Amino acid sequence: MGETAGRRSRSSETLYGVKIFPGIVIGRIRVAGGQMPRVEHIYLPEGEAADEMKRFKAAVAVAESQLREIRNHFADAASECAAIIDSHLFLLGDPVFHERTLSIIGRQEINAEWALAMSLARVKEVFDAIEDPFLRERFLDLEQVAARLQRILSGEGGNTLEVEGEQEGIVVGRDLAPEDIVRLTARRKVGLAVELGSLTAHSAIVARNLGIPTIMGVSGLTARIADGDLAVLDGYLGRLIVNPTEEQLQQAKDQLERARQYGEKLAFFSHLAPETRDGRAIAITANAEMAEECSAALQYGATGIGLFRSEYSYMTSRQLPGEEELFATYRDLLQNMAPFPVTVRTIDAGGDKVLKGLGMHKEKNPALGLRAIRLALLHEDVLRTQLRALFRASMHGKLRLLWPMISSPLELERIGQICREVKDELRAADIAYSEAVDFGVMIEVPGAVAMADVMAAEVDFFSIGTNDLIQYTLAVDRGNPAVAHLYDPFNPSVLRMIKQVVDSGHAGGIEVGICGEMAADLACIPLLLGFGVDEFSMTPLAIPYVKRLVRSCRAEDLEDLADHVLTLPSSRQVQQALAGFLEQHCRQEVDAALLDRLRQADGDQRSGLRGNSITGAGA
Ligand code: PEP
Ligand code: MG
Repeated sequence: MGETAGRRSRSSETLYGVKIFPGIVIGRIRVAGGQMPRVEHIYLPEGEAADEMKRFKAAVAVAESQLREIRNHFADAASECAAIIDSHLFLLGDPVFHERTLSIIGRQEINAEWALAMSLARVKEVFDAIEDPFLRERFLDLEQVAARLQRILSGEGGNTLEVEGEQEGIVVGRDLAPEDIVRLTARRKVGLAVELGSLTAHSAIVARNLGIPTIMGVSGLTARIADGDLAVLDGYLGRLIVNPTEEQLQQAKDQLERARQYGEKLAFFSHLAPETRDGRAIAITANAEMAEECSAALQYGATGIGLFRSEYSYMTSRQLPGEEELFATYRDLLQNMAPFPVTVRTIDAGGDKVLKGLGMHKEKNPALGLRAIRLALLHEDVLRTQLRALFRASMHGKLRLLWPMISSPLELERIGQICREVKDELRAADIAYSEAVDFGVMIEVPGAVAMADVMAAEVDFFSIGTNDLIQYTLAVDRGNPAVAHLYDPFNPSVLRMIKQVVDSGHAGGIEVGICGEMAADLACIPLLLGFGVDEFSMTPLAIPYVKRLVRSCRAEDLEDLADHVLTLPSSRQVQQALAGFLEQHCRQEVDAALLDRLRQADGDQRSGLRGNSITGAGA
């Protein structure tokens, strides 16, 4: 693997991106070019245009045979990956690359590379004017195909990076074409980190389909790594640690080792009940975005899906999915998990999660803008289609519906009315649905906390979305690295809010769960148990560790801890108290590194969620 001579030796740096597929890979970075080679501008000697056109056509033929070879990886012509490579084959013959480039060579008597770059620049102007971000993103495909042609023309060969044998590692690039992903990951254990790209990019779809741990949209990535750097790719947390410290490296190795060992002891762990030593039982469920994740959830011992982020299927398809498509997804989901309950959160998009077909505009303040239930109530037709599909699917298992980002009881009233109307329509059309669907509110904004006692009378359960609750309580943008140190789950104001919601829910006779990252944070679990939280929903990987911790505690100690912590005025004191508790009662179940970190907290400012989740520290 390319341990380049003279490589910069630098300190550890953590870069964040969009999570495309989970998994951890430790290895050396292999930089894949991926970008356009430098294009030479050459005026041809007179009479050479015809030969230059032939050179261009020959390059297209080489690219075509390369793509066909990669396409042969997929026996099933109907697979999504095959269709994506086919679309790139199709682009090769597109007039943009072909006729227009040939005509520019002929008319302007310039070299093929320059002519191709000019054709592409013209198309870019057209794409730049397109409002729809999904369509705009398709320009990436054109660029990828053009980059392959440019590499062939320049004599570099079409492929971005040649890898031999079964090398492991992390492939990093500014952009990676779907076909490069197929080629680079075949028979190798690799991870991918890409500077461009998003959830809906074709490259992302291929990486997901192939199950490759991947993050994308990592800004500044290629400028901050060098070929041969050691790195840890964490697809669970969407981060790449470049030149990890000894401690970070050890943590990642431990995680991998535990995952391996856990794999061996899976049957044993998954049959443990999540209850304290003195018999207080809770529910441990899984967060998921696709029906395919149910098997991992069950394998790791989840007794239900506590949060199904339904917007995912809207963000990964070309247009808004129709009722039938949604129905099939929800039916599979419910069937896969039956008899366990599945909590589907209705579309939580908006802000930075753009949905195709809704004419959404960039907002100045997306977190406070048109997102989640607000967006759904504005586009009622979209919501109604989703609800019809959900109610129809409710015949196939135990469905619970969850409303995201409710900020007032009025929204609850409106959504209740819409549900009644949707059910009336189904009844009138003689379409079956279950009357046993439960309804819940996601508590994510302080306004909902304040009104929790009122709303408890209207719904069947609460689910606290701590990721957003922390953001809105502390006024800290959860995605802004500049304020990440202020994003603090141990801030007493956050803790008091959680306790208030649990108390309001219980006083109203309903159960209260947590589905944000705090539910998987070993440092927080004893406290949340002490507050009385009934359900913890998390990434499946975290479940065995959380179960193990729960089983080491006694309800009485947990209540004392909760009472004590609620009297503490600062995050630092809270963390000290939690470290003390874990040391005394759960020494076997947590890492020394987690205790150290809690003990070392030196103020109210802590790097928050990113460092403290189960996969980051305690796992
Ligand atoms: C949350 O806000 O805690 C949550 C679970 O929702 P999301 O992370 O999808 O916003
Ligand atoms: Mg949320």
